[in-house]
Amino acid sequence: MATIELVQVEKLFGEMHAVKPMDLTIHDGEFVVLLGPSGCGKTTTLRMISGLEAVTRGRILLNGRDVTWERPSERDIAFVFQFFALYSHMSARQNIAFPLQAQGEAKAVITQRVADVARLLRIEHLLDVRPGALSGGDQQRVALARALVRRPAAFLMDEPLGALDAEFRETMRAEIKRLHIDQHATTVYVTHDQIEAMAMGDRIVVMSAAEVQQVGTPAEVYHNPSSLFVARFIGSPGMNLIQGHYVNGVLHLPPSNRYTVPARWVPAIQQVVGGEGDVILGFRPEAAAVVSDGPLAAEVYAADLHGSYTMLHLSLGPDEIVHSRARRETHYPIGTPVRFDLNPEMVRFFDPQTERAIVREGVPA
Ligand code: ATP
Repeated sequence: MATIELVQVEKLFGEMHAVKPMDLTIHDGEFVVLLGPSGCGKTTTLRMISGLEAVTRGRILLNGRDVTWERPSERDIAFVFQFFALYSHMSARQNIAFPLQAQGEAKAVITQRVADVARLLRIEHLLDVRPGALSGGDQQRVALARALVRRPAAFLMDEPLGALDAEFRETMRAEIKRLHIDQHATTVYVTHDQIEAMAMGDRIVVMSAAEVQQVGTPAEVYHNPSSLFVARFIGSPGMNLIQGHYVNGVLHLPPSNRYTVPARWVPAIQQVVGGEGDVILGFRPEAAAVVSDGPLAAEVYAADLHGSYTMLHLSLGPDEIVHSRARRETHYPIGTPVRFDLNPEMVRFFDPQTERAIVREGVPA
């Protein structure tokens, strides 16, 4: 079991910041996902936690102990890369036993631990098979077993499912999550896939351009993104964002829509722009509903059936498309003029100058 603390941890490669000063506490037993686009510093952060990469500045604490300058082997943390690196000339059993042998564990202990972990991952019947004769999914399980058998204080996983096709990803995602629930080992997991992050994380650390944008539960980053970046990056599609001009409680949106801002948002918006100024309105597709007396006018631009629902693409103007999640059987011919309304509980506002969310008490949390 482990608590991991990053205190002003920072990494420079030459002049370039790979990770800007970062504070993060990962609680014992927590599953934390580092999420962000390619190159934002996720892997570097994970490698600093593991000790594979030295920090430029800052401190890393494991259970309160400063491990900043300890070698990876001294940290009791298991690093799981993409799982496929099994030794092909060894059986599954030998592969799993390998880390314990390397630690010089007694034979009886190794036998017991391999049996335990094989039971956990339901691969007991595969222990004498070599990797080449295993399916991709079973190879992943063996590789996961090899990481688990050491019983480290914490796991660091860098895109472990990156090489898998969609179906296996789903299965292994569920498997890793279940293992985490069973074992409760502190886990830091890197991915650029926001769906994976939302599905797996107790908390998500959203990173962009070497900086932490937001740390929150999946629900927090989804409903209350702290910046335009998070609003766009989380969700598929991302949050609808329309720039408008705010004047005394009314947001003027293109082409000639007027949206009356819910009264509880007015003080927070006025604190940022005063009585008048540019404001970005944000809402998720499920917050927008086509209704005959809705305050906003648009035209149906396209409609996609997604199995259980229809995603309507509504055009407010040439470059202003918003998404509305509608019932499956919804059907409008392209070009149909419609009116839509927004769930007042689910609207958010952003400052176009700073690109940060406008905060009112409790929102974003
Ligand atoms: P990806 O998902 O593509 O792995 P990432 O978010 O994990 O991206 P990092 O691998 O941490 O990003 O890289 C952050 C930045 O640091 C990138 O610009 C990368 O090119 C740079 N970088 C990483 N390792 C080194 C290195 N050893 N030397 C120089 N630059 C590096």
